[in-house]
Amino acid sequence: MSAQQPNQIPVHQVDLDATKKQVHPRFVRGLYQNIRLVSMYFLLALFLILPWLRYDGRQAIWFDVPSQHYYIFGLTLFPQDFYFVALFFIIAAFTLFMVTVYAGRVWCGYACPQTIWTHLFQHVEKWVLGERNKRFKFDKEPLSAKKIAKRLLIYSIWFIFSIITAATFVSYVASTDFLYGSWQSLAGIPFPDWPVWVWVSMFIFTFATYANAGYMREQMCIHICPYGRFQSVMFDKDTLIVSYDYNRGEPRGPRKKGTHPDHLGDCVQCTMCVQVCPTGIDIRDGLQVACIQCAACVDACNEIMDKVGYPRGLIRYTTERQLVEKEKSRLLRPRLFAYSALLIFLISVAVYTLTDRVPLEIDVSRDRNQLSYINTDGFVENNYIIKITNKTQQTHDYLITLAAQDGLSLRTRFSSLPLDAGESYDLPVTVVGDPAVVAKGQTQIIFNVDSKDGQYHAERQNVFTTQGQ
Ligand code: SF4
Ligand code: SF4
Repeated sequence: MSAQQPNQIPVHQVDLDATKKQVHPRFVRGLYQNIRLVSMYFLLALFLILPWLRYDGRQAIWFDVPSQHYYIFGLTLFPQDFYFVALFFIIAAFTLFMVTVYAGRVWCGYACPQTIWTHLFQHVEKWVLGERNKRFKFDKEPLSAKKIAKRLLIYSIWFIFSIITAATFVSYVASTDFLYGSWQSLAGIPFPDWPVWVWVSMFIFTFATYANAGYMREQMCIHICPYGRFQSVMFDKDTLIVSYDYNRGEPRGPRKKGTHPDHLGDCVQCTMCVQVCPTGIDIRDGLQVACIQCAACVDACNEIMDKVGYPRGLIRYTTERQLVEKEKSRLLRPRLFAYSALLIFLISVAVYTLTDRVPLEIDVSRDRNQLSYINTDGFVENNYIIKITNKTQQTHDYLITLAAQDGLSLRTRFSSLPLDAGESYDLPVTVVGDPAVVAKGQTQIIFNVDSKDGQYHAERQNVFTTQGQ
């Protein structure tokens, strides 16, 4: 390694060989790893617990795709509310962009499911085989009954984790009551009584979890995840990145404990930063797509610096401006303002539309085959279908009335319409017009729908047409 000082953080080209050797990271403790563990296991627990929460007698978070009802605690969404979901994802994307501009790939290191599950699966290997050296040794051992037994134990635990993950994913859609409560007896043996789509989903999620966390691991981050590729366009000189202080560390080299030869920098070439890296890279090579910014190398190097009596921070969270240009990083910068303004706007739109949303939806359509006809009493009749959707989480009785000029009246089979929570009904109604009062042509009418308790009201305009138009 040359001792020449770079005038920017070197960017290391990624090794595109996906068949490279297995990564067995050494597990390290330290400030960032503690934060990471808390963050990762909190999110994992949230994922596992959320489908078991109950609200108003049903699953609190339940995306009931077959019946097209999507419950999030007190909120019920329907396919026509899809814009909320779109808005949610846009807000999530811009939040991620903003966080990335400021804190780099903090999502990758501390919250990404790929990182969490990979960490979990690597822990299983550590639990069964021991620390890093033992795992490498185990890989090289010739096949034996003991080796097969240990491998089988690891694969079985991975498989159980994958099944639990798949069942949790599927329970957000199929509901926990259905998933764990549907049994049939096959030759006297209890067997899940699930429809095909549940079996297919269980298989896909189990396979994806097992393959991603067991085998793909860092290859997902390097070759498949698009977010890692975006980072270079989102980063600026003030973005927080895990970086090796090249100027301080080089020339690297081993030395006697308690000494610091003049011709060497602070890096003692212990390779601990490489050994702890879950993606198997060397941070000293510079910024790399494979670096998920987990800061394991920061904790590992700090531990080494403490041992050799040098100041901490040879590898640290820093910015290009601090590290290379030796200037203070700028917290407030135009890109952050732009993202913040956009986010405030989007969140305001979401809050406004959510609070302004009437949980009673009506839609009126006309009978296109016969707009207008004369009945046996000589009155003009127009037929309509009023689709009423109860978007609340309780049963309500709805009254349908007509607001129109004299001479027009409403005829319907029901004086009131009871609808269950989330239920829709297509109600046929007829508007009857007295030809002696109603002028020829089109007359504006309004259909009103009110819940009997007076809580909800919705109205739709339409037209009444007399014959001859
Ligand atoms: S852990 Fe620190 S001292 Fe050891 S090789 Fe890495 S950078 Fe050098
Ligand atoms: S280089 Fe450091 S921060 Fe990046 S992935 Fe490896 S251990 Fe984590």
